Amino acid sequence: MADLLSVDEALERILSGITTLPAERVPLLDSLGRTLAEDIYAEANHPPFPNSSMDGYAVRAEDVAAARTDAPVRLPVSLDIPAGSAPTQPLHPGEAGRIMTGAPLPQGANAVVPVEQTDGRWSAGDHHLLPTEVQVYRAVQPGDYIRQAGEDIRAGQVVLTAGSTLRAPEIGVLAALGCVYVPVTRQPRVAVLSTGDELVEVHEPLPPGKIRDSNGYALAALVATYGGLPFRIPIARDTLNDVRRRFHEALDIRPDLILSSAGVSVGAFDVVRAVLDELGQIDFWRINLRPGKPLAFGHLQGIPFFGLPGNPVSAMVTFDIFVRPVLYRLGNRADESATVMVITGEDIRSDGRRSYLRVKLTDENGQLVARLTGTQSSGVLTSMVQADGLLIVPEEVTFVPAGASLPVRLLRYVVR
Ligand code: AMP
Ligand code: MG
Repeated sequence: MADLLSVDEALERILSGITTLPAERVPLLDSLGRTLAEDIYAEANHPPFPNSSMDGYAVRAEDVAAARTDAPVRLPVSLDIPAGSAPTQPLHPGEAGRIMTGAPLPQGANAVVPVEQTDGRWSAGDHHLLPTEVQVYRAVQPGDYIRQAGEDIRAGQVVLTAGSTLRAPEIGVLAALGCVYVPVTRQPRVAVLSTGDELVEVHEPLPPGKIRDSNGYALAALVATYGGLPFRIPIARDTLNDVRRRFHEALDIRPDLILSSAGVSVGAFDVVRAVLDELGQIDFWRINLRPGKPLAFGHLQGIPFFGLPGNPVSAMVTFDIFVRPVLYRLGNRADESATVMVITGEDIRSDGRRSYLRVKLTDENGQLVARLTGTQSSGVLTSMVQADGLLIVPEEVTFVPAGASLPVRLLRYVVR
């Protein structure tokens, strides 16, 4: 098997030519699920001013130092500070100011006594009845029940880093900072092309000898799963002219990546190779990999191109191993592929190529156990539905006994 390219070597060669796409600015809510293209610095403190974390009374802590339930301290109420107001008067020594949660602390105050620890309780609707004085039942320390300016975010601080995925909490932070438009990495545009005389579109009836184009959809869905924008190109027939025409259509959408499936093995009707050689520089690799030995990679008019195998499972597995990292690199996303160590639940035979076998995982007494989903034929699409991951049997290994420890590459397909 010395003439076969290793999976790692192939991936390294592929990634060496891939660079991250430029940034674009999108409205705040549209940035959900996108990748932040730049570090975000806070221009101002958040919260912008010290404010109360409770409904209660702003005081000087030293004025209520002696307060106890059985010996309350009585203070005149000189200020009323609802949320959203900006107090213009300071709090003088020996006074209290009624203050609401989120309202700015007045000058002179250094603590808040929650209303529950005073006799100044109020119920909804009677806020306007400002008591003339309040009895405080408990002492507080300077700083109690105050959210300091910049406690959450300090001016000048890097709040979010480039490469982060923008989820609901990040969107909240950006909103708090007044970020109306967000710099995100442009999503990779990916042309997805299926080739083969046996293929019909999903909505068409199925004449004898034909099958539906499942790869076009599964691959487009994978592209979207990993942050790309898929563009399905109509099926190319196995003629030079039709394949050429469809590849030109693929180039016309100005893609960042082109994927085709089928027609890269040595079949009598495989005209894909001829067209690829016309349009660019393509290497036809034989990879030390099962499933997915034949794989074409190169550039068509400068755009990275993968010719994936036609068998549906091989197409999806090679996508996971080779295309997914490319989408991460193009889209500036952290590589979220994860591998866990498992115990094999049955004897497994392999053919000496590095094999990615579809397995189901079960937790048995805290130990993950992997069992094959059934036949490993690369045409059985439903095995990908069942699989929790791909058990990796290393090169040169032809037999793995039950109870062996091996890595599993998890298939989680989290759509965001
Ligand atoms: P090929 O690479 O052209 O030799 O195709 C290998 C196998 O994959 C054949 O059984 C094809 O019918 C099947 N195949 C190719 N393209 C697709 C597709 N788009 N959807 C489903 N099966 C496909
Ligand atoms: Mg074919």
